[in-house]
Amino acid sequence: MTITLIDSWPTSLSSWERAKRTLGGGVSTGLRAAMKPHPLSFSGGSGARLTDVDGNSYLDYVLGWGPVILGHGHPAVTSAVVAQAPHGATYGNGHRLEYEVAERIVDAIPGMDRVLYANTGSEAFQVALRLARAATGRQKYMKFVGHYHGWSDPALIGYRPDADGRLSGPGTRGQSAAALDDVVLASWGDIEATLELMRTHRGELAAVFVEPVLCNSGVILPSHDFLSRLRDACTAIGAVLVFDEVITGFRVAYGGAVERFGVVPDLVILAKAIAAGYSLAAVAGTAALIDQTSAGVVHAGTYNGNPIVLAAARATLDELARPGTYQMLEEKGRALATGLARAAANAGVPLAVNQIGPVVQTGPGVDRIDSFDDFLRIDAAWYDVGIVEMLRRGIYVMPGGRWYLSTAHTDADIAATVAAAGEAFRATTELVGQPGEPR
Ligand code: PLP
Repeated sequence: MTITLIDSWPTSLSSWERAKRTLGGGVSTGLRAAMKPHPLSFSGGSGARLTDVDGNSYLDYVLGWGPVILGHGHPAVTSAVVAQAPHGATYGNGHRLEYEVAERIVDAIPGMDRVLYANTGSEAFQVALRLARAATGRQKYMKFVGHYHGWSDPALIGYRPDADGRLSGPGTRGQSAAALDDVVLASWGDIEATLELMRTHRGELAAVFVEPVLCNSGVILPSHDFLSRLRDACTAIGAVLVFDEVITGFRVAYGGAVERFGVVPDLVILAKAIAAGYSLAAVAGTAALIDQTSAGVVHAGTYNGNPIVLAAARATLDELARPGTYQMLEEKGRALATGLARAAANAGVPLAVNQIGPVVQTGPGVDRIDSFDDFLRIDAAWYDVGIVEMLRRGIYVMPGGRWYLSTAHTDADIAATVAAAGEAFRATTELVGQPGEPR
């Protein structure tokens, strides 16, 4: 197969220049400003493909940074939204879809009694933290370095090292210094040190938040008893265990990481895959925790549970619940992961690859990603060049090495991707040398 190389994106570039005159940074979320070679502008998507304003078509492994699990413009989701739209966008009061989606969530995730709706994962984190604090009367919470729980003041701590390599400092300029005092930072995967820290802070910890698979920093699976020991320790000290399943929820299994690893937390945060690209988030949990919202714990939001996103969610969950969906997603993920590893080996490029279900992490310049430290050793500068070489060959991937797959990606798409990636790896090496080498 001959691939026509894309050399430049003139209309995307001029769109970005125009956007910058009225839109902060020319992007709707700050991270996008760093996309290589510059933010692209898209005119539409269909299934596994996206088309940009220059007319280039890509196989999409960004998928809106995760949510588009059924591919772009999925017919069942689109019909559900189109059917709801003439009946109104929001009622500011109850409707049938609220409980129909909540029933599906409670049925899907073991141990959950109730659901709350929000619009984004960051908001859902906020209400989960508040519920834990209200229930325990405690202030602090534990999180793990490299785990991401959104961009709010209390959440954005210990995600990436700052310029001095510190993880315990502010996550951004403009953050409340007081937020830092509430966080106890633990090391992902080191259960003995984590348990020791929990013992030290017993009586202070309202909650322990964890991405049950560390998707945001390397797609690192928990060691075999990490989650269950965390569960036992939370019970022992009376802290609320929160699984942040914004990525893993309805993605690594229908019941998310709770089903996959068989460990039941007190609260589960959901977003991304739950509505296939529409902005719905949720917190599922025990009745005792969630019912606090009708007993003096404030949780609000004008758009919470609006019928448009819930119509999308009901259709999405019904699609995902079809027999064989998760086996298919696992097989696609495995095919992509092994294909990329093979393509890298053939190109002589050292590349670690992690995968669970339809989430894959590539790590140029390292031979394994088993810890956050391994993740930080990935040659990100090499990958930035690699991203552009992929883009030139019609493959659209995220910065940082993570790839998402949807149900719409075919075996042929994956094979074409692996072939293009092999060429991109070679081209990148010709341009900047091997990953991991000093340059
Ligand atoms: N938690 C996790 C695990 C995430 O990956 C994200 C976003 O990527 C969030 C929370 C925040 O979600 P949102 O971007 O919808 O606020």
